Amino acid sequence: MTTTILGYPRIGVRRELKVATEDFWAGRIDAAALEKAGADLRRGVWTELRDAGLDAIPSNTFSFYDQMLDTSVLVDAVPKRYRHLEGLDRYFAMARGVQDVPALEMTKWFDTNYHYIVPELGPDTRFRLPAGATAKPIAEYLEAKALGIQTRPVLVGPLTYLLLAKSEPGAPAGFRPLDLLDGLVEVYAELLERLAGAGAQWVQLDEPALVADRTEEEVAALARAYTRLGELTSRPRMLVATYFGTMGADALRALRSSRVEAVGLDFVAGPDNLDVLASLGGLPRKTVVAGVVDGRNVWRVDRQRAKSTYAVLLGLADQVAVSTSCSLLHVPIDLDAETALDPGVRGRLAFARQKVGEVVALGRALGEDAPVPAAQAPAPSAGIDHEVRARLEELGDAGRAGCGDREARFAAQRAALRLPDLATTTIGSFPQTPEVRKARADLRAGRVSEDGYSQAMREEIARVIALQEELGLDVLVHGEPERNDMVQYFAEQLDGYAATEHGWVQSYGSRYVRPPILHSDVARPRPMTVEWATYAQGLTSKPVKGMLTGPVTMLAWSFVRDDQPLADTARQVALALRDEIADLEAAGIRIIQVDEPALRELLPLRKPDHAAYLEWAVGAFRLATSGVADATQIHTHMCYSEFGEIIDAIGALDADVTSVEAARSHMELVADLRAAGYQNGIGPGVYDIHSPRVPAVEEIEENLRRALQAVEPAKLWANPDCGLKTRAYPETEAALRNLVTAARRVREGATVH
Ligand code: GLN
Ligand code: ZN
Repeated sequence: MTTTILGYPRIGVRRELKVATEDFWAGRIDAAALEKAGADLRRGVWTELRDAGLDAIPSNTFSFYDQMLDTSVLVDAVPKRYRHLEGLDRYFAMARGVQDVPALEMTKWFDTNYHYIVPELGPDTRFRLPAGATAKPIAEYLEAKALGIQTRPVLVGPLTYLLLAKSEPGAPAGFRPLDLLDGLVEVYAELLERLAGAGAQWVQLDEPALVADRTEEEVAALARAYTRLGELTSRPRMLVATYFGTMGADALRALRSSRVEAVGLDFVAGPDNLDVLASLGGLPRKTVVAGVVDGRNVWRVDRQRAKSTYAVLLGLADQVAVSTSCSLLHVPIDLDAETALDPGVRGRLAFARQKVGEVVALGRALGEDAPVPAAQAPAPSAGIDHEVRARLEELGDAGRAGCGDREARFAAQRAALRLPDLATTTIGSFPQTPEVRKARADLRAGRVSEDGYSQAMREEIARVIALQEELGLDVLVHGEPERNDMVQYFAEQLDGYAATEHGWVQSYGSRYVRPPILHSDVARPRPMTVEWATYAQGLTSKPVKGMLTGPVTMLAWSFVRDDQPLADTARQVALALRDEIADLEAAGIRIIQVDEPALRELLPLRKPDHAAYLEWAVGAFRLATSGVADATQIHTHMCYSEFGEIIDAIGALDADVTSVEAARSHMELVADLRAAGYQNGIGPGVYDIHSPRVPAVEEIEENLRRALQAVEPAKLWANPDCGLKTRAYPETEAALRNLVTAARRVREGATVH
């Protein structure tokens, strides 16, 4: 093995997988047609990789929904509630739920934007393989073999599978999925034997969990698992692949003394892997599969860097193969489809197809010990904005400079805004109606003029404002009808960002996103939201919140330049937001919300790296928000409930009001935040917007009263969990009506005592 990749996108260049699965769900095609679409996609990928000259080709990287879900089905970890279903019906029920049978949970795959389906395991879970050749990895291996292509089946490793699983509801308190390791390893042993029987020479076991902090017990479990698999007399050679960071030395030591033939290390996200390897004296008699081509970002490989990594590795392993840092699942497929991109940006990019070419070219050059050919042309460099850089320099560490302390701000805002206790509001977006979506599509297709589109949006905003007044909300929003996506909307208006036309990346199931590319210094050529905000504010005497996306989220959901620290790029985005906020304030907007739903998501996988990240993340937020007068109220919003590790950072943001997802965790967060010293306003989401269910007045009241045990009424806000754009109007109106009623009732009760 000299060149390989750890995985490839499965969605198809023209999003064939999305079309086929959605057609199947809608009953437009049958299971056989869906299976055929899958087989066509797999054949396309394998032949493409073979023709590109890659000498080890992965298989079983295809999935109709998700590779973790595939693994659950493979080992028969199917919770009881799906057992009456079969085949694809069962599979998709686990992924998406069906009437009366809720889906399995879904969560983020490490620190990526890909979401996996969380296995639900209990003490009675009995792993086993389906009979015969129907096990998916074997079936796909044979399918490729029939095409004359030898492949390396890719499996989620047993340790990572269990570490990412959760205990089924009702499991005894002491139960942990990892307790099931030995049984699972036996199933993997059987699978490996069967794969060897089918002719597989290599198998890839993905163990990305090894780049996060691991306990001694978990490392011992790793050693046990791979010792057992290593001892099998008939099995393919094993590549244990890690990615997304640096492997722990103890985990690498465990693999070093196992019979695993190859270890995959990520030298892009984990350059320290070199030191870890060296500290152990390398991996004698093993192959290092060197992830030197970035599988998660869109930049061309730095050949000189790859070359020097390779040179060091030659002294640390028996053999070195050139590879991607992780599966290419996380990047768009083909740069050649992007005909409208600026050539200066394009020249710096490589998508999945181009990255395969890079791996092959590097492998040839390095393997033959020939000089590394310079790229056809040197990559252009990022655009520099001297004015932005000078201003940032001058601003230095601006905190909330020039503003009064928290209590002074609180008093100034109370006087200026005259809001009641338990002020009611929403998170920003209102339902995106078919008419709104159509207007946007019409604009894009040129069927409607800019003016016509603007007019349609104004009408929508006027409707949303009137509705909120009628409902009796205290702080209104314009409803965000003009935004397709909270990051893309701003990226389209900022210098330094580019959009792709076809750069789709799977987020989960049939949902794909097209992240913008942040390639150069970021600057704001003109105000981005002021017109909409002032229009909305002109329609009502109640305050309307200005609505912006924060710097961390602007980076988290984009492909970001890697030629300078993220912290520096975040400050440039923050400066653009700071200017926008100043313009909003000058235009009479008294409350401005800066959303940071991705603050938690970018938290590094290892604890020792948390502090440095949180420092720049918080710094960027404060740079964006610190230019306003005391009386201008800054809000922020986050939507997840596992706040533990960032709770201090939320306080450090020092927003005047923080709204957070809390309904599903029963308001616990309010007390937690207070206990961590948070003194500002809190808007715990009092109902869950992720379902169409309308919460009863009593239920919202109960949540508000619970929150009031930890915070005074003047600092408590009543709002839903998140934006309403995915909801429909009837349930939204009913829920908000109940929210306003509940706040009113609690307010009356609360002021009495
Ligand atoms: N203001 C955004 C909205 O309401 C926030 C979205 C989010 O938190 N993801 O849609
Ligand atoms: Zn949210």
